[in-house]
Amino acid sequence: MQLEKGFAGVQAFLETHRVEDLVRIYLARIEDRASLNAFIEVYAESALERARSLDAQGPEGLPLFGMVLGVKDNIAYKGHPLGASSKILDGFESLYTATCLQRLIDAGALVIGRLNCDEFAMGSANITSYYGPVKNPIDPERVPGGSSGGSAAALAAGLCTVALGTDTGGSIRQPAAFCGVVGMKPSYGRVSRYGLIAYGSSLDQAGPLCQTVEDAALVWRFMAGPDPLDMTSSEGSVIDPAEIESKGPLRIGVLKQVMEMEGMHPEVREAFDAYIQGLQAKGHELVPLDFPYLDVLVPTYYVISTAEASSNLSRFDGVHYGYRSPEAKSLEETYILSRSEGFGAEVKRRIMTGTFVLSVGYYDAYYKKGMQVRRLIQQATDSFFEACDVVLSPTSPNLPFKINDTGKDPIQMYLEDLLTVQANLAGNPAISIPIPSKGKLPVGLQLMAPRMQDHKLFAWAKALG
Ligand code: GLN
Repeated sequence: MQLEKGFAGVQAFLETHRVEDLVRIYLARIEDRASLNAFIEVYAESALERARSLDAQGPEGLPLFGMVLGVKDNIAYKGHPLGASSKILDGFESLYTATCLQRLIDAGALVIGRLNCDEFAMGSANITSYYGPVKNPIDPERVPGGSSGGSAAALAAGLCTVALGTDTGGSIRQPAAFCGVVGMKPSYGRVSRYGLIAYGSSLDQAGPLCQTVEDAALVWRFMAGPDPLDMTSSEGSVIDPAEIESKGPLRIGVLKQVMEMEGMHPEVREAFDAYIQGLQAKGHELVPLDFPYLDVLVPTYYVISTAEASSNLSRFDGVHYGYRSPEAKSLEETYILSRSEGFGAEVKRRIMTGTFVLSVGYYDAYYKKGMQVRRLIQQATDSFFEACDVVLSPTSPNLPFKINDTGKDPIQMYLEDLLTVQANLAGNPAISIPIPSKGKLPVGLQLMAPRMQDHKLFAWAKALG
């Protein structure tokens, strides 16, 4: 059954059909594309039940009526399993629903299942999941990106209307780029983190992966806003991106260091350069920006994110949640064996790195230094927006790589995050949109706006896209 693109397509379909029909279409597609391994679990029964109750109720007062969501496996949904794609949470069921998800459900959306991701959202290729790798629907031999690879793959294959992801260092935007869809990371504090499984608490944000910028703006508007359950959520009111008037030609910032970057894939370079030239031809002004910290972005990110992860993941001890080693004979063994058996190699690597950078004797040299550099990165990022409206770059310097090419060298993998982590370290909103490229594999363009100007980011993305 043909569905037109995005939520508009769903709404057109629902003029003549029931939500239940829609859910059945998605269920059939999910079954068809099971080999992508995008869904860990499909909630067929509860989705159909919710569809029937929506059908009985009708669309009145429900702006997201019939929107079918896939939800990354680190966003809590009451009464459903929640596992961060890790063995250590095997058997755990969530006792409450994340605020960002609840707000979408309250507006008429429904959840069709939980989506595969990298274990505890650590990765850039969706190959660290306990449930196995996810395949890219555009080329199943290639990775969908990570960590929200299941979300991007499900959306690109048409298995849901909108997928929710989380982004600590690029995990919404990079998989969106690799799968040819739109993915948006809100400003830090714009969307409540209540109900997310924390990775790096000062970096994490949940956001939408969608087929269109309009859908991303719509979903963001409902997810965003103050939440008494998250002390870091911003009090500021949410402005509807649809109310932002396009202000004519924009000042487009591009980092000189990105223009000159070596090691960018030639197809990405060509697509990006051609796009920028096209924008200039339409009258937008190119503003070259100097950013001396490009080389320290990834190290700073990995010092801070692993430090926070080592603390956040200490709660998974074999006692409170999920998996407990059957071999353990004492409390100490319960901790050691459950964690040794329950966490995968990448998660252990991060916990060890994080514990190291926080330990006495190294704290000043690594963690404290990391925090100082982060401040410089934030100041430099703020200063960009005195000269320009929006900063553009490719989302990833690479094209989606082969599944078997990955996982050998962690450092290579960490460099995947080169162009995305700045927005997390500085707290800015950023979006990845697909742009034309010569090859068969998609290329993503990243747009970054000033902090808490998410509404403008959407407006500019629409104006430039
Ligand atoms: N690839 C990055 C990491 O592994 C980003 C992950 C994320 O944004 N959750 O940490």
